Amino acid sequence: MIYLDHNATTPPAPAVIAAMLPVLSGLWANSSSQHGPGQEARRALGAARGAVARVLGCKPVEVIFTSGATEANHMAVRGLLAAAAPERRRVVFSRIEHAGHLRLARALAESGVQVDFLPVLADGRLDLPAAAALIGPDVALVSLMAANNETGALMPVAEVAALAQAAGARLHVDATQFIGKQPFVFSTCGADAVSLSAHKFNGPKGVGALLLRQGTPFIAQTLGSQERGRRGGTENLAGIVGLAAALDLLGDVSVEAARVASLRDELEAGLIRALPATHIWCRSVPRLPGTSYLRFGQLSVDVVLQRLERLGVAASSGAACSSGGSEPSHVLTAMGVPADEALAAVRLSLGRTTTAEDVASLLALLPPLLKPLLQEEMLIAP
Ligand code: PMP
Repeated sequence: MIYLDHNATTPPAPAVIAAMLPVLSGLWANSSSQHGPGQEARRALGAARGAVARVLGCKPVEVIFTSGATEANHMAVRGLLAAAAPERRRVVFSRIEHAGHLRLARALAESGVQVDFLPVLADGRLDLPAAAALIGPDVALVSLMAANNETGALMPVAEVAALAQAAGARLHVDATQFIGKQPFVFSTCGADAVSLSAHKFNGPKGVGALLLRQGTPFIAQTLGSQERGRRGGTENLAGIVGLAAALDLLGDVSVEAARVASLRDELEAGLIRALPATHIWCRSVPRLPGTSYLRFGQLSVDVVLQRLERLGVAASSGAACSSGGSEPSHVLTAMGVPADEALAAVRLSLGRTTTAEDVASLLALLPPLLKPLLQEEMLIAP
């Protein structure tokens, strides 16, 4: 199989699995228990927290382990909003947040919170002047992703942090697609809260974290004694140890980013050469190294994915969570892309396991399958 769906999830690294197995079999005691095995589990939890803090540039007390990014996103927005001053009742999201996060935005709006959305430009970048106009003194918090999961476009976190700070608002950043692919330091990133998820950087699924700047007013949403009262529930110790191991394996992310970007660029150049009807979104703006979001003329994404499947290539149509539906991507819609073009969107996302051979095979095998379909499409086009 050629796996080109790393933005949906990544394979767990062998060293991650090796770190987790002894925890699953031996360190199963409850880390809140007072007995010896419980204390041992507690020490492992502390060690993992220390490793996460070291790699991500935060303090250990700023790490709150969660079940993944969706939970971290929800608890950040609800927890920061609940703690905001009563005159700050407005929440600002970008229009291109992850589908699950936009559901939270809708739920907040339905419950009476005033929710505003930051627009994006046609090239996929955030509309900063519009953001400046929307972020005012009545805003409790701004929630913005660091990188978009569909287009890979990077968002101007530092600039939005400055706007939020000037307005006295909090900033939450969903860095799920960013961490592990681009250099990241919590202490200097400008956000008050940052979400991440282990399965996007070769860690296990079902575990992530919210990094919450020390001293930030926050009201817990899941009550219990764990995580200093900020997130109740017995910790998923094996998952947490796996998350820490995956972060430890990252090393200098810019080296891997350069390797993956050059494979992605080669793939895009090869596809355009062989199939001139290929259109690539966000190619001219800063984006994640492994993401390519494209369409082949207006060939239906289902047809393309079927051909890819036949070749043993795993790819996706935009966000995995919403694929299979017939609605055009909300991200492309926000960029002003017409529905018929958006419905042809295919996302190829490369990662640590992608090789030059993967790219060469795809370039050798896919164009001959798509060329006749594109010629047919041109013949029937009005
Ligand atoms: N935010 C973004 C930007 C994502 O890409 C994803 C995963 N598709 C999530 C949040 C949700 O992460 P999780 O699966 O850990 O809940």
